[in-house]
Amino acid sequence: MSAEKPYSFFQSVEKSFDKAAKFTKWDNGILEQIKACNSVYRINFPLKRDDGTIEVMEAYRVQHSQHKSPCKGGIRFSDAVNQDEVMALAALMTYKCAIVNVPFGGAKGGIKINPRNYSVYELEKITRRYTSELVKKNFIGPGIDVPAPDYGTGEREMSWIVDTYTSLKPGEIDGAGCVTGKPVTQGGVRGRKEATGLGVFFGVREVCNMPDVMEKLGLPVGVAGKKVVVQGIGNVGYHCAKFFRENGAVVVAIAEHDGAVYNVNGLNEEELIQFRNKTGSIINFPGATTLLNTLDALELECDILIPAALENVINGDNAQKIKAKIIGEAANGPCTPEADDVFIQKGILCVPDMYLNAGGVTVSYFEWLKNLSHVRYGRLEKRFSENMNTHILGQIEELSGKRVSEQEREFILRGADEVDLVHSGLEETMIAATREIMHIWLSNPEIPDMRTAAYVSAINKVATTYVELGIFP
Ligand code: NAD
Repeated sequence: MSAEKPYSFFQSVEKSFDKAAKFTKWDNGILEQIKACNSVYRINFPLKRDDGTIEVMEAYRVQHSQHKSPCKGGIRFSDAVNQDEVMALAALMTYKCAIVNVPFGGAKGGIKINPRNYSVYELEKITRRYTSELVKKNFIGPGIDVPAPDYGTGEREMSWIVDTYTSLKPGEIDGAGCVTGKPVTQGGVRGRKEATGLGVFFGVREVCNMPDVMEKLGLPVGVAGKKVVVQGIGNVGYHCAKFFRENGAVVVAIAEHDGAVYNVNGLNEEELIQFRNKTGSIINFPGATTLLNTLDALELECDILIPAALENVINGDNAQKIKAKIIGEAANGPCTPEADDVFIQKGILCVPDMYLNAGGVTVSYFEWLKNLSHVRYGRLEKRFSENMNTHILGQIEELSGKRVSEQEREFILRGADEVDLVHSGLEETMIAATREIMHIWLSNPEIPDMRTAAYVSAINKVATTYVELGIFP
């Protein structure tokens, strides 16, 4: 894992692209344009630290593709940030958005700092200065480029960005749409926190609902009863475990950085989190067997394995020992190309990160739409739906002479809240993307795996947009 990589991150994205491009009909010139990073903005600016010293900040914003506007992608605060990494992540955003039909180009930003080494006041100054540098060069705006949180940034930084942007652009009516991942009080949308985990669940559930795919894997159709192992119980892993359990799957093991816990009858993620909050670790969770070597959890007997923590955890060393039939890549890059080769040979279905963890960007799209429409989802129709449902149910009860239970009544009469509509939009998005990719994969026996099929889907969509825009007459 620690061996020197022969390619840079951006080159390895290009290689995956080239592998898939062979299965498309597009001219080389179009493919080259899709691969290229359209704009790379490198910024240096000074920070006066709390102790009075001056430090020079290194920051980037890359717009990989403007085939759709605006561009979209997170901002990362990490001391590993460099131009190649930001370019690669921006390219992946182009492909991810295309696959899930989110009409954005791909972008990414980064500041080369470890946020733990800076005070909140310093972080605020850095974020605001970065935003004003983006404004200066027209690299941010609801119709230009819309950042979001990534490693080391969150709602707080997004609030600083929207505040800086709107104060530099007074009167810009859609200013709140210059960034997503904002707190709900600042124009954020309900349902974003669980979006990635829920999206992973919807994507894997759709695969499990495909009878021919399940037959090939020797599994029964549906999620219910399937044994699931989740690696990482952070934001994404916790929500994956929750949605699988609530839908009848049995979460037999959960792995963390310091160990894993296993119970063949199932674990409850909420109880596990409470236990960890109390003791500082998931190990020795009552009623479960503790595995001190956390990587052993990946090799347990199960149907579905959800790596939701780190990159490269399933690799040439352990791929042969994986017993899961389905791997749902919730994390970014959890499986290496060597592992992919083993999956093909062993007939394991790997549902790729590039679209499976796109729930966050999908719900970001809904947030941006909310900001442009200046109205909370559900505000217009909720009361109308409730009145209509009450009327319909009343008619049915009168005609049938029967009354439904109070619990059923509550469920039927309820109009949709913002979070219901966001979840529903996410469900539709993930189902549609899964079907499109499966269709591409199953209709060409030469395509080796679902990851390559996902790239083919992305290439076809971006190329079609370029051609339809008349960019290549
Ligand atoms: P997080 O920091 O909330 O959670 C990560 C969890 O993994 C933590 O609980 C951590 O203790 C655990 N962990 C660390 N090392 C581990 C190890 N060796 N074995 C097992 N567990 C380990 O992060 P997150 O937001 O849940 O993101 C997880 C992954 O999903 C990352 O790869 C991220 O890039 C990807 N992702 C996240 C989002 C999102 O919306 N949060 C969106 C797309 C992709």
